[in-house]
Amino acid sequence: MSAEDFQIEDKIMATFAPSSEVELDSRLGFQAAEFVRTHHRMLIDGNFVPASSGKTFPVYNPATGEVICHVPEADHNDVDKAVVAARRAFDSGPWSRVSPSQRGQLLWKLADLLESHTEEFAELESLDNGKPVSVARIADVPLAVDLFRYMAGWTTKNLGSTIPLSAGQDFLSYTVREPIGVVAQIIPWNFPLLMAAWKLGPALATGCTVVLKLAEQTPLTGLRLAQLIVEAGFPPGVVNVLTGFGEPCGAPLAAHNLVDKVAFTGSTEVGKLIAKAATGNLKKVTLELGGKSPAIIFPDADMDTAIAGAASAIFFNQGQCCCAGSRLFAHEAVFDQVISGVSEIAGKIKIGHGLDPATELGPLVSEEQFEKVSAYLSSGREEGAKIGSGGGRYSDRGYFIQPTVFHDVRPDMKVVAEEIFGPVVVAQKFSSDADLEKLAAQANDTVFGLAASVWTRDISIAHKMARRIKAGTVWVNCHNVFDAALPFGGYKQSGWGREMGAEVLNNYTEVKAVTVKL
Ligand code: NAP
Ligand code: MG
Repeated sequence: MSAEDFQIEDKIMATFAPSSEVELDSRLGFQAAEFVRTHHRMLIDGNFVPASSGKTFPVYNPATGEVICHVPEADHNDVDKAVVAARRAFDSGPWSRVSPSQRGQLLWKLADLLESHTEEFAELESLDNGKPVSVARIADVPLAVDLFRYMAGWTTKNLGSTIPLSAGQDFLSYTVREPIGVVAQIIPWNFPLLMAAWKLGPALATGCTVVLKLAEQTPLTGLRLAQLIVEAGFPPGVVNVLTGFGEPCGAPLAAHNLVDKVAFTGSTEVGKLIAKAATGNLKKVTLELGGKSPAIIFPDADMDTAIAGAASAIFFNQGQCCCAGSRLFAHEAVFDQVISGVSEIAGKIKIGHGLDPATELGPLVSEEQFEKVSAYLSSGREEGAKIGSGGGRYSDRGYFIQPTVFHDVRPDMKVVAEEIFGPVVVAQKFSSDADLEKLAAQANDTVFGLAASVWTRDISIAHKMARRIKAGTVWVNCHNVFDAALPFGGYKQSGWGREMGAEVLNNYTEVKAVTVKL
């Protein structure tokens, strides 16, 4: 790292190390400092409380491996309290008496509050997750704000329909959409604030109450958001926010008999555990899981756009995206150009501490993730993949991995078959003989089906591929484009149900058919 990096690191250490004697000083310029240094509490039934066991666990800065603060470690007792509060707020509490328009106003107020704290949230996210603050500022925070505003609009448009019956004219039948009830929401660490927004927005818009469990690695923006939720005026018990680990906190929450639905984002492995845990009371389940998404470059594509797009598809958020373009397919006529182009971009990416304004690629979220991705790098090498760029760790401190391009890979290699969840792309060639059917079969040769991108100027190829690809999202000449209005979710083992758009409302409502004999 350069001398400049150390300067920013010193500044960060002075501000965020828990043992720091430094008085909070606005000259240090971090708006997140005050919150990081507060005594962290969970939100249960409108109160900010410690874990009932009194236990806490450390939160790490992945750029340095240092502890930045401690948060409560919730267990089944805290889960119980939170679920009971959410149950009461739903069944007999204030939430059922809040009108759709008032729910919309609360969501809009939350969006305004979040927006007015954009810089603080961007810094918190960067410190906690490692991602560049410059990215959190223009992506994570504004997308979360927009999601809350979009969902605020739906509160008054949760419509049923009237349905003519073939049984005769003497009937009036109509449907109403009712909130599903108490929702458990369990989220991962890759977009901590945005995942909280994707989950909370539709649940609150439809009139559900929530117990949200944050990821152990990244609890800070969720805890700060809990403060804004109270400030916005949501009644006690409507939103409860827990910090804790998967087994002692997530598992009892997913299994709880007073919970009507569980919404989960994370690994496919834990997604399967969630589905099992839900069987006790057959609560509804939605899952947003892993991916191994193809990015397919045809020879007629605008090469500069396609190469830059393929690089960003995998390196965005350090590759820790469920929809990362982690399998790159390029036509043989342009394959070498694509590999050298993506490798060149990889080699030039500025790696550093997320809070350094110049950083383009931060560390991975945790030591565990660093070890996991490092093991894939070794495995790729051992199985004979060639390296176009990267292939190892960056810096001897923090959890940095070089953006890596593997090529000359085979479908049976672990790096090709499994989700790596790091800045590592595997590139394969396709020939002129491969028709679209064959190519789509290759792209679909995965247990996942979350997303794909197709790069071509030929609209016919674009739409034919869009039809053939088995994934919840297909991007053409772009990748990683999100909008609160666009449904997002997976085919196959990438999940059940959709997030965002009008579709997500179905996952938080029950439909009741009412028939009247006139
Ligand atoms: P994970 O274990 O699936 O964690 C996701 C969430 O589930 C976290 O809040 C986690 O708690 C919780 N959890 C863990 N075990 C649970 C259980 N038995 N019952 C209920 N909740 C449970 O994901 P991870 O360990 O953080 O990451 C592992 C891999 O998952 C990554 O390498 C990546 O491949 C994939 N992943 C996918 C996404 C995505 O967006 N689809 C996001 C993150 C990770 P903790 O707080 O204790 O972890
Ligand atoms: Mg885990």
